[in-house]
Amino acid sequence: MKTVLITGASSGIGRATALRLAREGHHVVLGARREDRLTALAKEIHDAGGTADVYRLDVTDRADVAGFADAAVEAHGRLDVFVANAGVMPLSRLDSLLVDEWDRMIDVNVRGLLHGIAAALPHFRRQGSGHFVTLASTGAHEVVPTAAVYCGTKYAARAITEGLRQEAEPGIRVTTVSPGVTESELADSITDPGAKAAMAGYRAVTLPPDAIAAAISYAIGQPEGVDVNEIVVRPTAQR
Ligand code: NDP
Repeated sequence: MKTVLITGASSGIGRATALRLAREGHHVVLGARREDRLTALAKEIHDAGGTADVYRLDVTDRADVAGFADAAVEAHGRLDVFVANAGVMPLSRLDSLLVDEWDRMIDVNVRGLLHGIAAALPHFRRQGSGHFVTLASTGAHEVVPTAAVYCGTKYAARAITEGLRQEAEPGIRVTTVSPGVTESELADSITDPGAKAAMAGYRAVTLPPDAIAAAISYAIGQPEGVDVNEIVVRPTAQR
């Protein structure tokens, strides 16, 4: 049984990951801003016989993320897995100049990830073990129109996570999970009409979020000493 912290656990992939890992017997610590959602999810997990804690956090706030990790260690004695999953995707063409949305993607998808590394790494080093899992994207492998900034943040997330893997001491595992199009609330934040219309077609075929949860479960279920570096999972219909 591992203590697993998940950012962005209030919907989509994070929620599905919490449900699956709790079912598998792990203790999950649920982080996000919408605390009501987290409380309802924790109740669902408890009712099914699992265990979960709730922690309200904004990943753009470094102190919040540090508090998330520290509180889990205080309550459970250790931090086994940190899943850096929180992300936003308000897509638009660069010439739409939705500069505030660019900033938000960088703050959540890049700074939020770095805050997770800063929060988890001291505990992993003290323990001599731990597993950091980053949710990147197939958009961390290729750029598509309207997704320049989003893909930029996901290329950055993948690069930073690979750097962490290379630098991490033996005993610390690092995995990048790169999902293709997956059913979630991710596209709800798109305000640009053109990007919204394009996304409707793009999301015609999606994976269920539990398909990504299964990949995360596979990575953390490997024996100590086995590090799954990256998993790319996409719908068969996605090129
Ligand atoms: P959702 O929109 O369903 O979930 C995103 C989660 O991130 C929510 O729980 C949200 O919680 C949380 N979040 C957003 N901003 C913040 C913040 N500032 N602080 C804390 N939590 C925050 O999308 P997905 O489940 O799809 O996304 C999960 C990850 O998977 C993201 O990193 C995304 O980029 C990645 N991904 C998703 C793909 C897809 O097709 N769905 C494809 C490739 C990658 P709250 O609002 O309550 O804070």
